[in-house]
Amino acid sequence: MLFFNREKKIVRERHEHCISRNNIDPDALKVLYRLSNTGHIAYLVGGSVRDLLLGRHPKDFDVGTDARPNDIRRLFRNCFLIGRRFRLAHVVFGRKVIETSTFRRQPDENESENGIYQTEDNTFGTPEEDAKRRDFTVNGLFYDIKTFAVIDYVGGLKDLEKRVLRCIGDPNIRFREDPVRMMRAVKFAARLGFEIDRACRKAILKHHSDIANASVPRVCEEIFRLFTYSSSSTAFSLLWEHQLLKDIIPELSAYIDRSGGKSSPVWKYLRALDAHPQSAELSNGVRAACLYYPLFAEILRAEETAYPHGCVNRQHVARKALHSLAERLHVPKATLFTAVALFDLQHRFAEGPRKGRSQRFVRHPIFEEALAFNQIVIAAEGGNTSALEEWKKLYDHEVVASQTPRADKGNSEAEDVDTPRDAEPLESEPPRRRRRRRRRPLRPETESPADAQPVTVTEDEAPADDPMHDDGCD
Ligand code: ATP
Ligand code: MG
Repeated sequence: MLFFNREKKIVRERHEHCISRNNIDPDALKVLYRLSNTGHIAYLVGGSVRDLLLGRHPKDFDVGTDARPNDIRRLFRNCFLIGRRFRLAHVVFGRKVIETSTFRRQPDENESENGIYQTEDNTFGTPEEDAKRRDFTVNGLFYDIKTFAVIDYVGGLKDLEKRVLRCIGDPNIRFREDPVRMMRAVKFAARLGFEIDRACRKAILKHHSDIANASVPRVCEEIFRLFTYSSSSTAFSLLWEHQLLKDIIPELSAYIDRSGGKSSPVWKYLRALDAHPQSAELSNGVRAACLYYPLFAEILRAEETAYPHGCVNRQHVARKALHSLAERLHVPKATLFTAVALFDLQHRFAEGPRKGRSQRFVRHPIFEEALAFNQIVIAAEGGNTSALEEWKKLYDHEVVASQTPRADKGNSEAEDVDTPRDAEPLESEPPRRRRRRRRRPLRPETESPADAQPVTVTEDEAPADDPMHDDGCD
């Protein structure tokens, strides 16, 4: 039987909490006010309330309401309904989407099998039921636009103060219902600096292998979300400690075990990645390269020992190291090719630039990522930075100085930290001619990295479209 934390409803009035409307997105406020002014309950829900209470800037603002999807559509011209089993409304403002969902509940016990519910099979419910179907207590808080009060049905306020991540309900059931919640626990604990509560930890250690039942694109998406907010070293070490990494990427987990566990070199590269000044904007290709670099180095050393007089093909070794990422997580081609290219190009930074070829290299679209990756490698290993400084100088002279300032630069706050930049083409495209187009509904900005075409890299597969093959770079 499902048990819920027996929490009483707590209401914190405006003067008892720190959420100000000044910190709420103006478009989210428009949605909240229109719903409220037409007689509906309108709450800010989920991660945005959590982040505002913690004094952080929320990534997105979600709205919960008692209005039904069709009512929401009637209220907003800029609204699109998505989802088949449970319809969600996306209210669109330019590139921004305010996700607006009708309160829902978990199905009744007799609608479930063995006490395990399917999250998609849900029906409309009350605000309290909606709070209790959510994953963690700190994610189950509401902010009421009518009274400006924070409403807590699940004990989230107490856990927020104690900085504890606790499941709503029995973690043994909630994690089996949706194994991706185990990865979310790790993500939030790392990002917020919270402790995962004992019951949750025990449940993850018991049910970690259920992650194999989760959909690959969701797991892949969550893996790359672990890199956001400069907390990848904590996130991946929690993933490894809780045995989840063993089920998701066994090859990497085995490498960590044999290379010292808690003192494995993997952690110093991730710490250097987190400390990089642009860590939030780096592409998933750079992130994958940082995660796999020690494993790549191990294979490279073995190949060089096995063939002391032969020339070791670094691209071949790179594909071998990254094979598990492609095979198990179906990581997009662009991400993999970026990581392969970064491993391959790394030796170019051992010496400073030389005339001719170096000028061409710094103008290559991948150079910026290669530079960032090498900064991270040197920071992790504590090496000499003089050659790197020369490359930076040349890059500033050849590329940065000749660039006209882009209008959208400096607007990174509005950008979604989860949006992978690998989706950008590696080769610079010719400018497109402007064409008049009929207006179509905009799609949400955040696309799963797994939405792109999956690829499996095999050892002897020749990457015909590898960006580094025909561009004059070696
Ligand atoms: P972020 O800052 O990463 O967006 P978030 O808490 O807003 O964090 P989302 O993935 O955007 O996370 O989900 C929004 C809300 O939906 C969560 O706060 C949580 O209440 C609920 N939720 C999301 N995924 C699940 C899940 N798998 N099970 C139960 N509730 C979930
Ligand atoms: Mg969110």
